[in-house]
Amino acid sequence: MSVLDAIGETPLIPLTRVTAGIAAAVHLKAEFLNPGGSVKDRAALAMVRAAEESGELKPGGVIVEGTSGNTGIGLTIIAAQRGYRAVVVVPDKSSAEKLAILRAYGAEVIVTTGGVTRDDPRHVSQVAARLAAETPGGWLANQYDNPANPGAHYATTGPEIWRQTGGRVTHFVAGVGTGGTISGTGAYLREAGPVTIVGADPENSVYGGGDGSPYYVESIGHYVHPDTLEDVWPQSYHREVVDRIERVGDRESIEMTRRLAREEGLLVGASAGTAVVVALRVARELGPDGLVVVLAPDSGRAYLSKYFDDGWLRRTGFPAPPVPGPLVGDGP
Ligand code: PMP
Repeated sequence: MSVLDAIGETPLIPLTRVTAGIAAAVHLKAEFLNPGGSVKDRAALAMVRAAEESGELKPGGVIVEGTSGNTGIGLTIIAAQRGYRAVVVVPDKSSAEKLAILRAYGAEVIVTTGGVTRDDPRHVSQVAARLAAETPGGWLANQYDNPANPGAHYATTGPEIWRQTGGRVTHFVAGVGTGGTISGTGAYLREAGPVTIVGADPENSVYGGGDGSPYYVESIGHYVHPDTLEDVWPQSYHREVVDRIERVGDRESIEMTRRLAREEGLLVGASAGTAVVVALRVARELGPDGLVVVLAPDSGRAYLSKYFDDGWLRRTGFPAPPVPGPLVGDGP
């Protein structure tokens, strides 16, 4: 038994106040209660296990990943437990809290330029790939294209939701970063019953048809020129699993994130705010038999200096649209 056994089996919490006037039920899958504080603990554990089994990751090896933070935190916890080194490349959009958490767990953190596309040599994925290749014993987790990422959710998140709702779930809503969560969970739920899978995407992200211009919500969506999308589409995202994608602006996501803390007592990150906005949209279309499950990927504790800070909101000029700059263009 170790901390790794505490990954998964997160509670499903009914929303009771932001759902006022809605007939359908909306239940929130509380992934911030994983030991590393996010849903990515699941993918990290599955990716490491697969690499240990295949021999790609050897005892005493070095785990390398490009991440907006949460995957790195999960990988670093596993590295601490199992005696690996962890080298984590993060874009400069990631919150200061995430970098501090990574360092607290013992990760070697490399901050690189955000706001660049995946084919740019400065992009987190490219920097991480170079480091993994150059480091003896290096293994790149590669969450964008690693089948163990969606596989983790097919094996755990999906079955948990099905069991926790007694098979009554009608809709599943999640944001799309690498796509691992929505693809694996969605695939399981569609096989289990008639469940509609809905993606929640930042307004400007190209997943939902946006123009790829900057936005503030961390860890979901994609910032690339739409014409180059086919080249960079993550293999962890299985488009055929997703029935519908709804787009949400930064301001609405952040407002909902703050309401969840104040009205529901749920301190979650802004990607959860985005997903809850969509879950409420979907729930409004349904009658009392509707049961919408929405996944909250991480905790608001990682963003106290951003979305929950009035000074930050003022400085970033909300509700004015964000300006292009170093705050954009990360990966999950
Ligand atoms: N929200 C947050 C806060 C995340 O860290 C991530 C993963 N990067 C996601 C959403 C998206 O999850 P996935 O990569 O499984 O699509």
